[in-house]
Amino acid sequence: MKSHNLLIIALLTAFTFNVTAQTNESNMKTKVNKTEDEWVEELGEEKFYILRECGTEPPFTGKYYKHDEKGSYNCAGCGAMLFSSTSKYDSGSGWPSFYESIDKTAIKEIEDNSLGMSRVEIKCASCDGHLGHVFPDGPAPTGMRYCVNSASLDFKK
Ligand SMILES: [Zn+2]
Repeated sequence: MKSHNLLIIALLTAFTFNVTAQTNESNMKTKVNKTEDEWVEELGEEKFYILRECGTEPPFTGKYYKHDEKGSYNCAGCGAMLFSSTSKYDSGSGWPSFYESIDKTAIKEIEDNSLGMSRVEIKCASCDGHLGHVFPDGPAPTGMRYCVNSASLDFKK
């Protein structure tokens, strides 16, 4: 029992270090800088709430959770390519879900301990827009589930 606990602690520690390293690396990628007023004007209230205030749309309501055309899902804030339709799958969560990002540097991961939960927030590396969270319960080949708000995405064929 004891060694089992130690293994869990070791795994959690490795996971945390990994997240921290990625965060530091991708922090340097931020390129788009706008004021709050500029963002509200450009995005409208719903997208502003999700992208800039880390809001969450209700599940099964977004325009992309059941969307299965071929193309790329880009950041609704700045247009950066984030996910390919080839990595999209139905996770049953009610939010668009992907098992990997289009490019490891496109997304930054940040530890999020809000709402009494320990989660990893995902943000656009270019504009810092909030996308959703990533969970280690996705399908092969990565085992990850990038759970993203439709409002944070802009699909391009
Ligand atoms: Zn962006």
